[in-house]
Amino acid sequence: MITVKDLCKSFGDNLVLDHINEHIAPGEKVVVVGPSGSGKSTFLRCLNLLEQPTGGDIIFEGTSLFDKKTDINKLRQRMGMVFQQFNLFPHLTVMKNMTLAPVLLKLLREDEAVEKAKKLLERVGLLEKADAYPKQLSGGQQQRIAIVRALMLSPDVMLFDEPTSALDPEMVGEVLEVMRELANEGMTMVVVTHEMGFAREVATRVLFMDGGNILENKPPEEFFANPENPRLREFLSKVL
Ligand code: ADP
Ligand code: MG
Repeated sequence: MITVKDLCKSFGDNLVLDHINEHIAPGEKVVVVGPSGSGKSTFLRCLNLLEQPTGGDIIFEGTSLFDKKTDINKLRQRMGMVFQQFNLFPHLTVMKNMTLAPVLLKLLREDEAVEKAKKLLERVGLLEKADAYPKQLSGGQQQRIAIVRALMLSPDVMLFDEPTSALDPEMVGEVLEVMRELANEGMTMVVVTHEMGFAREVATRVLFMDGGNILENKPPEEFFANPENPRLREFLSKVL
């Protein structure tokens, strides 16, 4: 589904991604872990060109993101993204947050969008919040809305950047539960997180990033039981 070839990204003199190679197959759940500043967010943001890479190639569903003929906005619609800070539109109700993009992009009529939004809200137990504004919701509720809002465009892959890091501890579980259900339904997912329990249970592969490189890349059983890279061992000794 996604092939990353020799991906590089520098900010000025700072080389943040150093020739990353990675292949993500349909249905995979790839969890990315690593210390702060290791390039995890930059990697995720390069996948949908929120950051412009300085080298290499990204092939998404057979099309290079850098091909002049590629309609990058169309490709982006097939990748949902969820951020640490929810990023809901504060001045719009939950329902409007959900229907805005698909209606503007003419993917759905207003009434179709409302129907789809209701189904998704029901799925995450938040249908009664359809007319609420984001600030009237808890962080966990806002993040569940952000996830189903991304699903309104029926993406082929979902990218999550530390989706539970800004939440109070008692709200982490409800968000991880929604992500777990999405994984069980077969969604292709790339998830940057510090939730090692989630990585163990849900990941098909876990990547360890440090210094702009992927230093380890294994199924979770091996990743946690048999970490080879010394820096990964040190990292795990701190977080587990
Ligand atoms: P992580 O998500 O693993 O914490 P990031 O990808 O956010 O790491 O950052 C990796 C490095 O890139 C850091 O050194 C950070 O300071 C730098 N960086 C990230 N975004 C920018 C930016 N927009 N401008 C300059 N430097 C940046
Ligand atoms: Mg980050």
